[in-house]
This record gives sequence, C-alpha cells and structure tokens, in this order.
Amino acid sequence: MEDLYHHINGKRVSGGSDRFGTVFNPATGETQARVPLASKDEVEAAISGAAEAQPAWAATNPQRRARVMMEFVRLLNRDMDRLSEALSREHGKTLPDARGDVQRGLEVVEFCIGAPHLMKGEFTDSAGPGIDIYSMRQPLGVCGGITPFNFPAMIPMWMFAPAIVCGNAFVLKPSERDPSVPLMLADLLVEAGLPNGILQVVNGDREAVDALLHNGMVQSIGFVGSTPVASYVYATGCANGKRVQCFGGAKNHMIVMPDADMDQAADALVGAGYGAAGERCMAVSVAVPVGDGTADRLIERLVPRIETLKIGPYTAGEDMDFGPVVTAEAKQRILSLVDSGIAQGAELVVDGRDFSLQGYENGFFVGAHLFDHVTTDMDIYRQEIFGPVLSTVRARSYEEALGFAMNNEYGNGTAIFTRDGDTARDFTNRVNVGMVGVNVPIPVPLAYHTFGGWKKSAFGDLNQHGPDSIRFYTRTKTVTSRWPSGLKEGGEFHFKAMD
Ligand code: NAD
Repeated sequence: MEDLYHHINGKRVSGGSDRFGTVFNPATGETQARVPLASKDEVEAAISGAAEAQPAWAATNPQRRARVMMEFVRLLNRDMDRLSEALSREHGKTLPDARGDVQRGLEVVEFCIGAPHLMKGEFTDSAGPGIDIYSMRQPLGVCGGITPFNFPAMIPMWMFAPAIVCGNAFVLKPSERDPSVPLMLADLLVEAGLPNGILQVVNGDREAVDALLHNGMVQSIGFVGSTPVASYVYATGCANGKRVQCFGGAKNHMIVMPDADMDQAADALVGAGYGAAGERCMAVSVAVPVGDGTADRLIERLVPRIETLKIGPYTAGEDMDFGPVVTAEAKQRILSLVDSGIAQGAELVVDGRDFSLQGYENGFFVGAHLFDHVTTDMDIYRQEIFGPVLSTVRARSYEEALGFAMNNEYGNGTAIFTRDGDTARDFTNRVNVGMVGVNVPIPVPLAYHTFGGWKKSAFGDLNQHGPDSIRFYTRTKTVTSRWPSGLKEGGEFHFKAMD
C-alpha cells in the first residue's frame, strides 16, 4: 500500500505524526493508500516555509508570476489524462467528469494569467494642487485553504491560483479522502517554475485545520465544504483576525413551470440530479413542478430516464453516467435518508436500494432514487443528501414554488425551466439564491464571473474566482502623494477636503 506525503518547500515530505487516514478506491472498496495527517508542528513548519518564501515572490513582477501560471496551464493540458485517472480512482467519478473537474480549475488558472491587468490599481491625477491619489493592490502574505473531497482538482485551483498569482504564498489542506491530485498539482507548479514554499500542501484533518486557523502568520482562510464546518471555520478564523470566506452545503431547487419543454426539463434534471452520483454542491436535489399536471408529465418522463442510467466504475468506459459515492459511510448515510423518506410518507417512485454491480459488490455504489410527494418537513428535504436521490416537491402555484426555494436555509444554486420570459425575469430578480439558471440546470459561472451562494451556503462577503478572487487575495493601499517644489506654508491643522 502506498504512503502519501506532504508537499513542503518544493519537496515530498513523509508524515511525522504517526496518524494516517485511509484513501479508498470507491469502485472496489479497497484501500489504496494511507495519507499522513499532519500535526500542529508540521503545519506550523509549512506556514513558516511559506512566510520565508513569500516576500521574494511578491517582489517578482506580476508578468513573471503570470508566466508561471501560463506554463502551469500547458502542463495541466499535457497531464490531463494522468490527473483525471488519479482523480477518478480516489473519488469514483467518471473519467469525463474528472476531466471536467481539472478543466474547470484550469480555466481559473487561465483567468489568473490576466493578473497584471486585474491587479492594476486606480489613479487620480491632480486630486488637489500638486496632489495625486492612487490605490494599489498588494498581496496579503501567507494564505490558507481547506478543500472538500468532491472537486479535488478544481476547488484547490480556484483558491491557490489567484492567491499565488497575486503574490501570496498558499498553504493548502486538501480533503483527506482524495489527496493525490492536489499533490500532483503542487509537483506541476514546481515544474512550471514556482519557487519552493509558495504552494505548500499539508494533508490532515481537524488538527491541521485548527493549526491554520490559530496561526498568526496566516492572513486569510478560504474554505469549501459542509455548512457546519464552514460556519466553525468562519467563526474561528474571524475571531483570530483573519480574512475568511467559507462556502458550505446546498439544497438546489429546480422549478418546472407548466409551459416548460418537459423533455428538456427531464433531461436536465437527470443530468443535474444524478451526475457525479449527486456529489456536487450545485446538483439539483429538489424538483419543483408547478401544478399536478406538470408533476405527472415530468415524473412520467423522468422514470424511464432514471431507470436506464448507467452506473459503474470509471474503468467501465466513457459512457457511464455516474460512479460510486466516496466512502462506505456516505453510502450508509444516503440509504438511511432514503429509509427516512419512506417512513415519513414520501412516495419512492424509483427505488435504487437493491442496486449491486457484479464484480464490484464491495464498491460504494448507490442506485438512483426518485421521490415524489415530498414535503418540506421531511428529513430528505431538510438535509443535504449528497447522493443520487432526487426529491419532487409539488407546488400549487409559481409563488409557492418560489417560496420553497426562498425559505430553504441554503442558497447556493437554483433554476427555472419555462418558456415565459416574464416569469423567468421575476424569478431571477426575486429569488434569494446566489447562482440562478434559466433553462440551465447547473448554473456554474465561468472563470471570469464569480461563484458563490447566499444564506447558509456561504459565509463572508466575496465570491470565489473571477474579479472577487483578486479582491479577496489582495489588500488595497491608497497613497495620497505630493511632490512639492517646497512646503513653504508651514504645518496644516485642518482635516482638508480637496478643492
Ligand atoms: P467536509 O465539511 O466534511 O470537509 C471539508 C474540509 O473540511 C476537508 O478538508 C476536511 O478535512 C475538513 N474538515 C472536516 N471536518 C472538520 C472539522 N470538524 N473541523 C475542521 N475541519 C474539518 O465536506 P466534504 O464532505 O469534503 O464535502 C462535501 C460538502 O462540501 C457538501 O456539503 C457540499 O455541498 C460542500 N461543497 C460546497 C461547495 C460550494 O462552493 N458551496 C463546493 C463543493 C462542495
């Protein structure tokens, strides 16, 4: 069995804590590696290395920093197959989906190549007699990031690419479930010319997270994961005086109006509900058809599509629709939520509980499930299931459907399927959710826009990637400057307004 490592100061470093996590192959259920769980001392050593390296990197001109990102993009494309295979092996998602995971991170790296332009400040010439005012964006220093298992390539890149290109050093604590790809990314950045110490990868669990949160050298924390941990990280990081952005869980509703193209809506729901086995924060987990007629027409189209989904290991070919979930515990939790749905009175229209795959009986596969007549007091509605389970909540009117999305505690993504522009416009204006799709089921914005939810899906006030990421990873300094031919008037005693 392979022992994984940390990536510190450009080198692979074995774990010294004697604590390890297990990395599974979710398709077979086999253990394929041990990941070291860093001690507080190991995290502190990584932070110190980053702090030592950062000033010289910040002093490197932004164009040169951007060139490292340019080369990194080339290497990501070169190694796309190798990265995707490693990602599928630890996460379980299909190969095309794993490629998408790398690609969506790569696109943020491409955006970051524009940093010399994006970091440009503001300048006011002659704000007063002989006085200029200018603002510049300067790096924070050492930044920290804690990432989830479900996008082990994309989310680390969303964080460290903007942080690094802005002149910071970054200490990444990836998910202990699938840590290999983040380690491979760190190797590629060394190959791309990144100085040692600017990206540190420390593997670990809560002990490593706490070490980052309590270290005075760490200026900012980015977190993506479940809401309870997001809220803990946000509160602790803020209490320790850090700049913090935390992105949490989700319960994404897709409203289907009576005038929607029902085949298009059904296709969209199947892809968005079951893709990646539902382990996406932007997965649609709640379908909200408006009116019983709409619900019946939708369910009628959903059932055959769901029953013929291809579920299998990533090695079975590119046409698999989804793979296993990440661990045996995740599988158990999903199945017990399905049982609770039945016990609480929802109608299980497609039952995937007996799903099993010959030759992969020990894998963490979960069949596809569809519930109808779900109500908002049920556990399957109230909890994020993070599995291949779609719940249908029937609404009597558009206003009731909108209310379901608005009253839900999460606000990551939502969508409406309709042919009516006025309804779509009203929905996009009023809904209190961060990312909205109109006839688009998973409205994940591209790299040059920003990504972030509302309500309990995000804590902090700036989004991920796009222009917000440059703001998050820099602080503004504003200079008021006068180059006098001579200060002849003597001291000034009033707080002056410019005239
Ligand atoms: P998780 O919260 O279990 O873990 C996320 C990270 O936090 C990991 O690195 C983990 O090691 C660490 N962690 C776990 N428990 C901790 C604790 N008690 N104290 C400190 N650190 C801890 O999440 P996950 O299961 O890896 O990921 C799935 C969750 O992430 C889902 O809720 C999903 O919706 C969410 N997610 C959100 C977004 C978004 O942008 N909003 C994106 C992807 C995933």
